[in-house]
Amino acid sequence: MTAFNWRCEAVDGRARAGVLETAHGPVATPTFMPVGTVGTVKAMTMDAVRSTGAGIVLGNTYHLMLRPGAERVRALGGLHRMMDWPGPILTDSGGFQVMSLGALRKLDQDGVTFQSHIDGSKHRLDPERSTAIQHALDATITMCFDECPALPAQADAIAASMRLSMRWAARSREAFVQREGYGQFGIVQGGVEPELRAESAKALCDIGFEGYAIGGLAVGEGQELMFATLDVTTPLLPGDKPRYLMGVGTPDDLLGGVERGVDMFDCVMPTRAGRTARAYTERGTLNLRNARFATDARPISPDCDCLACSRHSRAYLHHLFRADEILGPMLLTWHNLAYYQRMMRGLRTAIVAGDLAAHGAALRAAWAQGDWTEEEWPQPSIPPVS
Ligand SMILES: [Zn+2]
Repeated sequence: MTAFNWRCEAVDGRARAGVLETAHGPVATPTFMPVGTVGTVKAMTMDAVRSTGAGIVLGNTYHLMLRPGAERVRALGGLHRMMDWPGPILTDSGGFQVMSLGALRKLDQDGVTFQSHIDGSKHRLDPERSTAIQHALDATITMCFDECPALPAQADAIAASMRLSMRWAARSREAFVQREGYGQFGIVQGGVEPELRAESAKALCDIGFEGYAIGGLAVGEGQELMFATLDVTTPLLPGDKPRYLMGVGTPDDLLGGVERGVDMFDCVMPTRAGRTARAYTERGTLNLRNARFATDARPISPDCDCLACSRHSRAYLHHLFRADEILGPMLLTWHNLAYYQRMMRGLRTAIVAGDLAAHGAALRAAWAQGDWTEEEWPQPSIPPVS
């Protein structure tokens, strides 16, 4: 078994290409982690998730503690066995989900008491309990339990919240059981205030973690402020540890994050969009419900080898969504995850080649260009029947 370790293989500007070595196998970074909130990547079999090239998936403490319960998951062999994903799994601490419950939760200095969104039953999460639940789930990467204020908020409220999260980070670290090939990440908070981000980064580095996440972004501040916050935050984190930008984002957000030294991302966007007929492509997004796709015999993207693109037309996907057929979300989620993984592999290749600036400019230009015209289309329009 290898020690939990992140090995840097190439640097291009601030971007890094590396390999995360874990008890559940290696992950090439930069990487995008599909979200498997309740022990399933929605609308996907795990074989399908694997086929996209995903190396690590997410699980969620809040959702799994309520249903089916952490002890049930443990009895079923842990999250890896239960969902048939032998690779690495990162679990959210539950902090973000509890905070978004609003009136259903009560925060104190020690933790949070809340009512289940499922049946109204009362529960409590604190740093020790969250860490123990993630242990029971057998998370490869455990996240610190933190508080995440919604933006915009007053600077003094963000400071108080960040300092509470740092005290909770120390308690989370204390509660974490070290095992070979497992790790725990601290979460930098502090809103969009550079001095608070610096204070938070220092507090976490003083505690010492196997990796560092940047939390509290993509909550309404906008891309410009998010990138500005990354610009002041990533240089403060250890160069030899992985960095994870939580809950981000669009392909353009991921590119900007990688350019600023981020190694790991997660977001519901590609899976959620897959259930609402929105396709991500090299030429930007397509809404497959749009009437113009009703007779479009081309696959979603000429550059994609996912099941949807290798067998089906846009017109068929359009029909499936119009008819509310379950296969539509299945095929399009597959396609979107395949696109995200392909894009991340492309970024990694560019970093290794020292070519990220040109590669990134080409990606942005293509996104802005919009859908392929018939003249540009590089292959026969109608996929063969198989
Ligand atoms: Zn595809």
